[in-house]
Amino acid sequence: MKRISILGSTGSIGTQALDVIRKHRNEFEVVALVAGRNAELLAEQVDEFAPALAVLADAVPPAGSYFSTGAEAVVEAATYKGCDLVLNALVGSRGLLPTLAALDAGKTVAPANKESLIAGGDLVTRKVRHAPERLLPVDSEHSALFQCLAGNRLSDVRRVIVTASGGPFRGRTYEELSAVGVEEALAHPTWRMGRKITVDSATLMNKGLEAIEAHHLFGIPMDRVEVVVHPQSIVHGIVEFHDGSCILQAANADMRLPIQVALAWPDRLPEGAEPLEWSSLGSLDFEPVDRSTFRCLDIAFEAARKGVTYPAVMNAANEEAVGAFLDERLAFTGIPSIVEDVLAAHKAAPELTLEAVLDAEQWARAEARSRIEACS
Ligand code: NDP
Repeated sequence: MKRISILGSTGSIGTQALDVIRKHRNEFEVVALVAGRNAELLAEQVDEFAPALAVLADAVPPAGSYFSTGAEAVVEAATYKGCDLVLNALVGSRGLLPTLAALDAGKTVAPANKESLIAGGDLVTRKVRHAPERLLPVDSEHSALFQCLAGNRLSDVRRVIVTASGGPFRGRTYEELSAVGVEEALAHPTWRMGRKITVDSATLMNKGLEAIEAHHLFGIPMDRVEVVVHPQSIVHGIVEFHDGSCILQAANADMRLPIQVALAWPDRLPEGAEPLEWSSLGSLDFEPVDRSTFRCLDIAFEAARKGVTYPAVMNAANEEAVGAFLDERLAFTGIPSIVEDVLAAHKAAPELTLEAVLDAEQWARAEARSRIEACS
């Protein structure tokens, strides 16, 4: 029986993880749950799963509840002694400290929270250099690559390819994007996800973040990570070997599958995604990304190439810009512009330390906010 802590249990990934656990009660026990502000849903989850620890991190806990609160309580859930695996499904770079703390405490971490790997990827991977199996990817593309790489040598890999649905604005021009609203950006064609990642999917920043995530998770240089548009979202990731052979992972788009793979690894459980009907699938399309319209992709690759604190700055500026877009204080096309401007003004720290990341993020958020204010 694996004992699981879920950070972000009330979100899209968190609730789907609980669906997986509900189906496989004999495999998993929930020992800690962390929510941000949704006290009502957390209370329901606590009634159903009876965790030892429940945290409402970002709001005053209701009277009479045993919920703890605050950022330290999140770290407590990430390091809880009775837990084997931490599913980090927080949104934003607030996930970095709990991931680092969980790894320091000897836990296995399943990071859905991609922003922490962008901000402090090297800090995270340094902690598992001798035990990479303690990081189990949850993102569907990284779960795909992880499954394709299993049993193969990294030295035999020529490149990895991350697929992108293209988001709701595939085929639009940059000019057409300037007027798009929040509702349109949130109407993702294939995946139902939290608001922040859905906007990132519409700008394609999500693919930039995923490329950097792949680089850190698998130790593959950025120039050997590629992105290809695949609108059907059936193939999630492809590994190409030096001999030209490719191994790809395919499944119906259902996040509960990669969550289940991570929670159960190295075992496989029955009842994942609905099986594919290959004979009636029809054609699968693959096409290049329109990089001049979806500028965030190149911005992310460039930030990753510069390294040190650039990715943390890019991520923090993007979080602020996406928040402002969702609050209707910034145009959709303002998102890449703000991120680009903040990156251009950044002076990198000499080396990557946790302190440097936190300072760079704080600076980037302030810089982005003042630029967003100037636009509105
Ligand atoms: P959601 O916005 O749906 O959920 C975020 C979770 O974080 C909620 O439980 C929320 O709590 C909690 N939270 C927010 N603020 C705080 C805080 N200050 N302290 C503690 N908890 C907080 O996000 P998603 O589930 O969509 O995404 C989570 C992560 O997984 C992201 O990094 C995303 O990029 C990644 N991901 C998501 C996928 C998806 O399909 N959704 C796919 C692949 C990756 P509350 O609601 O109670 O405020």
